[in-house]
Amino acid sequence: MIRIYNTITKTKEEFKPVIAGKVGIYLCGPTVYKPSHIGHMVGPVIFDTIKRYLKYNGYEVKLIINITDVDDKLIAESKLRNVPMSTVADEMITDYMNNLTAMGVKDFVDAFPKATEHINNIIKFIQDLIDKGFAYPSDGDVYFEVNKYTNYGKLSHRSLEQMTGEGGDTVERKRSPFDFALWKSAKPNEPSWDSPWGKGRPGWHIECSVMSRELLGETFDIHGGGLDLVFPHHENEIAQSESRHGKPMCCYWMHNGLMQESGENVKIGGRKTSSALTTEEYTKEGDIKSQEIGKISKSKGACAFRDMLKQFAPETIRFFLLSTHYRRPIDFSFARIEEVGKGLETFYRFAKRLEKITSQNFYSLNVPTNRNDAEMLRQKFEPVSTNTASISTNTQSQSKFYGIISAYRKKFLEAMDDDFNTGGAIGILFELLRELNKFIEDSKLEIAPNTESISALKYGASVLRELGLTLGLFVNQPKESENESSNELVSKLIQLLIDVRNSARQNKDFKSADKIRSGLSDLGIQLEDRTGITEWNFTK
Ligand SMILES: [Zn+2]
Repeated sequence: MIRIYNTITKTKEEFKPVIAGKVGIYLCGPTVYKPSHIGHMVGPVIFDTIKRYLKYNGYEVKLIINITDVDDKLIAESKLRNVPMSTVADEMITDYMNNLTAMGVKDFVDAFPKATEHINNIIKFIQDLIDKGFAYPSDGDVYFEVNKYTNYGKLSHRSLEQMTGEGGDTVERKRSPFDFALWKSAKPNEPSWDSPWGKGRPGWHIECSVMSRELLGETFDIHGGGLDLVFPHHENEIAQSESRHGKPMCCYWMHNGLMQESGENVKIGGRKTSSALTTEEYTKEGDIKSQEIGKISKSKGACAFRDMLKQFAPETIRFFLLSTHYRRPIDFSFARIEEVGKGLETFYRFAKRLEKITSQNFYSLNVPTNRNDAEMLRQKFEPVSTNTASISTNTQSQSKFYGIISAYRKKFLEAMDDDFNTGGAIGILFELLRELNKFIEDSKLEIAPNTESISALKYGASVLRELGLTLGLFVNQPKESENESSNELVSKLIQLLIDVRNSARQNKDFKSADKIRSGLSDLGIQLEDRTGITEWNFTK
């Protein structure tokens, strides 16, 4: 049973989709006026993982992320750069999509609807709200009348008295300061569309009510977004959709914690820290501050995400983002990513160890991708009684080993079933990894392998991969490890030549020995003879 923390009820509830077996998820996406930074990746990575886990549980899942491509910030940016708003949007959408592709998220998103592609639907939706008495036109604008919707505040758990309402230059057009714009009349030289209320453009909140309904229906399953969107954005979405449809907009409101600057200011070898940011990056940092997305404004990591990808592998960043429970704030610093990356490398080392012992490539292990299939398969290996308390007990017995693996698998699934606790689940992957390494040592698999122990190890590795895949981890062999293995091969070849040269010298065949030394030197490899050993290094 999967349980989800629902912001609207403030409790964890059993997950039951509107239509059995199917799940619709709508995630509020970016306003595309600047290149993405790491804060923009938090929601997509979390909800992509939720989709993967629900799919593993047998659900057919549709994940929608909207793109806000008309907005005050886009208009300001297009004026600043003196290019059409659509040019700004197109550039930033390309940047965003490239980042999502690098993160392995893009293929898991079923649609990226854009506000400008739904203008007609938006106008119709607004007209319906006017007809039903929930909205009113005023001097070319259209406002939602908050007083007409009695449940206003039910998501953010605040009453009108606790809200300040919006002031600004439109306050005179509103019946109450709490009313918010559904349609904004165009100022001169602003992009605009014809409407029954004159030329204008949609407000931000209405696009999500319209596009979620178009793609997922009037009541869908999960609505996600950052914690900063609860009020007013999601509160206003609810007011619009529920006034228009007379039924709940969605069943589960899920809000992820925001990214915040870590207190650390650690200098990392060869990597940029706060003090090492270039002027250009400082400028970008200022821009990001104004985006108000992800509270990492002063952080060292407030650079364009595409630049961050030059420093860190996408899987390292995914691992970092999922190491914290999604409802908690993510403590950001390069040092933290570095640290988390070291943890991930211990899995990569295991993959190599596995291949060395069993000739089985970890990333080619055939594993069940569906929980039911997995249960059927895994049942065969479970001992009659599995005692979780025995997990930390040392053992060399294979049947006990199967029991331990099975217990960890259960703990992992329990963590994920409990409101997608990816942080807890990753902790269990580490424990499982420790058991696998311990088994290799206890069974002396590297010294005297035997068939049963090899099968048991492969089985344990397949469970590790099965669980990792539900988090979008261990999908492909990491590039670093390919580099490392080719470096390893080079080292071995050089050592072989050194050994041949030493034999030649012992046989007084100095001609051959010199040939090897000068040949290696031509390739940029210098040999240095010391007492008893020959060391080498690259000169180029
Ligand atoms: Zn939204």
